[in-house]
Amino acid sequence: MPTSKAAISTNWKSRFTKKYLNMTGEHAGEKLNQILLRIEEIHELKLKNDSTILSHYYMPPELQIETEDGGVADHTGDSLSLSMMGSKTKNKNIIFCGVKFMAETAHILNPTRKVFLPSPNAGCTLAESINGTDVKMLKLKHPGVPVIAYINTNAETKAECDIICTSRNAINIANSFESDTLIFVPDKYMGQNLVNLFKNETNKKFILWSGSCVVHENFMENISDMSRLQPNAEVLLHWEVPGETVTNVLNNAKGMVGSTADIIRYVKESSSTDFILGSECDLGATLKGKFPEKKFFTPCTYCSFMKEITLLNTLETIKNIGTKNEDERLITIPEDLRQRAYIPLKRMMDLS
Ligand code: SF4
Repeated sequence: MPTSKAAISTNWKSRFTKKYLNMTGEHAGEKLNQILLRIEEIHELKLKNDSTILSHYYMPPELQIETEDGGVADHTGDSLSLSMMGSKTKNKNIIFCGVKFMAETAHILNPTRKVFLPSPNAGCTLAESINGTDVKMLKLKHPGVPVIAYINTNAETKAECDIICTSRNAINIANSFESDTLIFVPDKYMGQNLVNLFKNETNKKFILWSGSCVVHENFMENISDMSRLQPNAEVLLHWEVPGETVTNVLNNAKGMVGSTADIIRYVKESSSTDFILGSECDLGATLKGKFPEKKFFTPCTYCSFMKEITLLNTLETIKNIGTKNEDERLITIPEDLRQRAYIPLKRMMDLS
């Protein structure tokens, strides 16, 4: 529901400015006013153009704060929850504040809706590390071995795989196969973490691809150093952090490895007050907003692809709906490819 200008201003200023935006300096007021005006305009256009905004946890704070709290997002979440949301939305148009494979996934799941990505440069190193031909070659080399693809893959790659998984359901998905060998693409680090997890429990073997997330592979030295400086803090690590780092850090400090949703749940349930975050920096904004009484230390590695999405290009995208420029940011996938990519996604959702 759109919020009135007065309500947005009051909510935004009182609840989020200090916590999230940390604006100081002589132009802080001016910048904040500009943000407020853009938020207001987006609210009006969402209503006029029958649109919903889905926003990933790695978006800048002004994009991931939900409408009811004065921001612009109708739903904020991780890849899986946003995909599910995209498949159910009643609005004609979805503005996806995330990266390209996510917007594609929303379109694959809900072809009756138009999905827009505010910047064509919002890619992903993991998704771009593999394509459909690579998967076909893997299948030729390992006939009969099931292929699990992480959701961070393009439609063409998904279409060649048996099932999709996210960081939240990877273990269940791997366990759902009787085969003792599985191909897992494209994240070698998440694959290593799966190997480590399974090695003491089952005989499952994983054939891994060599893709990696440019953000999470950097959490090596800085996390260990921070952990030494904050010995009472628990360490929160995403599945995409290299397996070796995860093992080293968790051998010396209390904490966990898991998906974004697992991290949020863990903080909620933990009695600790201090945490070191080994994931994208803006997840820290979500955590600070949800748990203001807790303290978060983060090396602050940003995903430059996620930061391609801004309040301004989100506003421009929603403004262009229904004009001759609409197609510039519209996600399109040939129908036969969309249908093939839908099959492994549907299998995942049936098991989730
Ligand atoms: S954080 Fe990593 S996996 Fe996520 S979009 Fe950025 S590069 Fe891709």
